[in-house]
Amino acid sequence: MRFIFTFSFFLIPFLTLILNSCYKGKSVDLIVHNAKIHTMNDANVVSEAMAIKDGKIVEVGPERQILNRYSANEEIDAMGKDVYPGFTDAHGHILSYAQQILSVDLVGCKSMDELLVRIEKYQQKNKRKFIVGRGWDQSLWTSKDFPTNEKLNKLFPTIPICLTRIDGHALLANDALLKLASIDPSTKIDGGIIHLKDGKCSGFLVDNAMNPIYKLIPPFPKNEIIDAIGEIQTELFQYGITGVHEAGIQFEDIALFKELIDKHDFDLNLYAMLMSSDKNIDFAKKNGVYTYKNLLIRSFKVMGDGALGSRGALLKQPYSDQHNHFGVLTTSMDEMKRIASICEKVGYQMNTHAIGDSTNKIMLDIYQRIFETNRDHRWRIEHAQVVDPKDFDLFGKYGVFPSVQPTHAVSDQRWAEDRIGTKRMMGAYAYKTLLNQYGMLAIGTDFPVELTDPFLTIHAAVNRMNGDNYPSGGFYNNESITLQECIKGMTTWAAFASFQENEIGTLEKGKDATFVIFENPVVALKEFQPNFSSYTYIKGKKVYSTE
Ligand SMILES: [Zn+2]
Repeated sequence: MRFIFTFSFFLIPFLTLILNSCYKGKSVDLIVHNAKIHTMNDANVVSEAMAIKDGKIVEVGPERQILNRYSANEEIDAMGKDVYPGFTDAHGHILSYAQQILSVDLVGCKSMDELLVRIEKYQQKNKRKFIVGRGWDQSLWTSKDFPTNEKLNKLFPTIPICLTRIDGHALLANDALLKLASIDPSTKIDGGIIHLKDGKCSGFLVDNAMNPIYKLIPPFPKNEIIDAIGEIQTELFQYGITGVHEAGIQFEDIALFKELIDKHDFDLNLYAMLMSSDKNIDFAKKNGVYTYKNLLIRSFKVMGDGALGSRGALLKQPYSDQHNHFGVLTTSMDEMKRIASICEKVGYQMNTHAIGDSTNKIMLDIYQRIFETNRDHRWRIEHAQVVDPKDFDLFGKYGVFPSVQPTHAVSDQRWAEDRIGTKRMMGAYAYKTLLNQYGMLAIGTDFPVELTDPFLTIHAAVNRMNGDNYPSGGFYNNESITLQECIKGMTTWAAFASFQENEIGTLEKGKDATFVIFENPVVALKEFQPNFSSYTYIKGKKVYSTE
């Protein structure tokens, strides 16, 4: 009797527990099922369900298998929707975008007069002592000449005004600001151009000539910056973007990002490149590879040249639309070599902005040296926009990672041929050729130069068209890549480009549960299809949903 009592008292609950757990399966935090899970692994497996615990993927597999094996308090029936690893924007500027949000928005201005109206409206509301604007593009105006500051001086004779061009490589300053920066017609700045009109500064400054101006711009109040970054993060999550390669910060910005992470729900995976200033180099020497929660720093961003739109990119032969003008190298060759050896010493990646064919060749030659000692260096060229066809094979030969922004191709289509002529266009925005050389591309947008929408990137990369489906046959369509390749550029390859392939980029056992469920099927039809996230998760945490 006593035995039976013991049996019933202890064993029966024990058996029930076993039966229960068999029935319910192993306990996890979240199950996503009835989905089309694009794992983006080597075999490109598409699966139906996945189980997630402690921010990691426990298993990905067929519907029944996952539902039988696991139980969770939270389940998402994805209703057959596409699930992808969270997208990464492999070249963006969160801090500049925040500045842009707080500045006068000049994107899409159709004339100088519209630009002035927008500044006046902004100033009525904000009453700033120093006005900063961003995003104008004179190629949209009837007169496509670079603007001058006369009208600006009349309206604002005393308040300094700095208006940066859409590509971030040129600005228009009023006389009050030029005076403050001590810039006059006799000023010479290496790697920069100070435009003159009738012997007087026109206010139009290119590349390094902007530096004395930028030094004077007072920072926006910190609370305003934090709010703006919050807005940007939400926008990115809405598009399914869970990571950004922030292309150039100062070490002072690290404190801001840490504060955002600790106090303001900044969950975005941030791979931040340090600008190559002395202070930042000191930081790298002292800290080496630096991680703080979702912030990773282990690379330098170096500015090789300017942009094509403002004719600052350095070309081997003169510009087709400006006599005897080659553009400028914004960092000297010796300095670039010095930074390269520092990178080698501290184990940092070197990511160089190179737009012109001359700068690309210079960088490929500098990168060659590291390839001799480190075959898997993953050093990048940001943009790789115009490449001399005879230099393409060097990307493959020296293992140089091309980091490209497909929307640049379809935005620049209005004037790219004017700048470099049809022959050089054969090596411009040549994403397919670059992919064939290196075997991977890191894909981004360069926001706020372009919009953050990754579906515009897909449309530009696959169909070579802009959001208005122009041009109908695609812009140099022979350089289009496939949908799968484009998504790899924003997932697996972007992870590899930032040394994070063990954590993110694919949906596989052991990887971070960082994924997005898209509202509509992810496709690349000839007509642009907007798409948004229904759910965005980072490391198992829901950071966005349309619920
Ligand atoms: Zn950039």
